[in-house]
Amino acid sequence: MNNESTPYYWQKVDWRSLTRDYPPPPDFERSRGRLSADEMRALQDERFRARVDEAWRVPFYRDRWSEAGLEPGDIRGLDDITRIPTFTSDDLKDAIEASPPFGTHQPVTRTDLADRAIRILTSGGTTGLPRVTLFDHESMEIQGIQTARALHAQGLRAGDVFQITYTNSLANAAWCAYNGAYHWIGAVPLTTGSGIVTPSERQLEIARAWGTTAWWTRGEYLARLAQVAQETGFDLHALGTRSLHTHIGPDVDGHLRRRLEQAWNAPVYDNYGSHEVGPIAFECRVQDRKHLSEDTVFIEICDIDSGEPRPNGERGNVVATSLYRSLPPIIRYDMRDIMIQYDRETCECGLSTHKLSTFLGRSDEMVKLRGTNVYPLAYQNAVSRDPRTTGEYLCVVSHEGQGLSRREKFVVRIERQSQAVDAAALHADMAASLRRDLGVRVDVEITEPGSLAEHTGLGLQNKVKRLLDLRLRQD
Ligand SMILES: [Zn+2]
Repeated sequence: MNNESTPYYWQKVDWRSLTRDYPPPPDFERSRGRLSADEMRALQDERFRARVDEAWRVPFYRDRWSEAGLEPGDIRGLDDITRIPTFTSDDLKDAIEASPPFGTHQPVTRTDLADRAIRILTSGGTTGLPRVTLFDHESMEIQGIQTARALHAQGLRAGDVFQITYTNSLANAAWCAYNGAYHWIGAVPLTTGSGIVTPSERQLEIARAWGTTAWWTRGEYLARLAQVAQETGFDLHALGTRSLHTHIGPDVDGHLRRRLEQAWNAPVYDNYGSHEVGPIAFECRVQDRKHLSEDTVFIEICDIDSGEPRPNGERGNVVATSLYRSLPPIIRYDMRDIMIQYDRETCECGLSTHKLSTFLGRSDEMVKLRGTNVYPLAYQNAVSRDPRTTGEYLCVVSHEGQGLSRREKFVVRIERQSQAVDAAALHADMAASLRRDLGVRVDVEITEPGSLAEHTGLGLQNKVKRLLDLRLRQD
């Protein structure tokens, strides 16, 4: 007799309770997205307590929390959250090393793999194996719903042809967009992947031939596609693009956004999220800061040095607690992304939420230069506002000299738009404006269009790198 029972995905997901607990759009915009502050806090509190109970059964948390002097029952709700120690991605790497292959935070056995609907995805790692995160059916679908809420608030609708230029492979950015658009909006995913899967010229040809109306693309890659269009005489305005859904990075004065909106003749919407927690915050059509997805994630902003919580309106590291994730639980994850959280408000779009600022940089990419903290991502604004550049740049930090005279050398390499641009004049202007914006003098080198792609990974990878640190290789 055959006792084998297949764990069918459609049987695992309780679609009715899923959509009741995590309403997709447009229902979200009429219901969950308009809760009062007290109602939202009560819902967050209830979900938080459930996640804390689960986390006590997970070695990674049990050990860390016990070491901090906590006992089960000590954390009675969100008011106690700051008693819980934070962790970083380094701690997750250690957890994986301590108990391979998935780590002490993801204690999953072969039997679990056979019983549950589990997927293996990873962070966009650059050296060594990328950091693995397991997803069960709930986390996959809820991340899809989170993404759909963002896309819908930004105008994506059923029938839109939605070109996804993140690669559907190990990292979850492409899968979130795919699930969100396909399962929860009824848009038509066109999964071209990044430039290494579908070259940029082909991306544009496909968009024209198959009628792309919306894009899910990193900000830097939208700029790259605009440049390719210009070089090849491709008319971007003829595409009929309705919306550009992106992660625009530290565009504090909005230069990159204006440049992209002009080039594409379509609105650009910013989003923010992480591999483990999923989509966290999204702009709506008002384009005024990003709405927090408050029933799925609780965000604190903590001081970069002391780790102490900062009040609303002040910058610091984003510390995230997932309110739905059980495999693995994510509780007080210091993501080392620098942002500002703003007070709750009712937006013109109708949603009532806290909001997050523009992405301001990564604190783990900080370079200390003559006593001043320098963040490579902070240069994006100054570089992208000058039309003589391609918007592409790379910070290179190295050592020069020997012994006592050894010092750190920091060079910002910037691509000029074309060889017709006067390199000497651009050099002088960029050096002055970087110094004015960031308060520290740095060396500048002007390079040719496209020359930095090899190091930044632009167009090829899901994530663009802005820092090349040669110090370790020299030691
Ligand atoms: Zn809004």
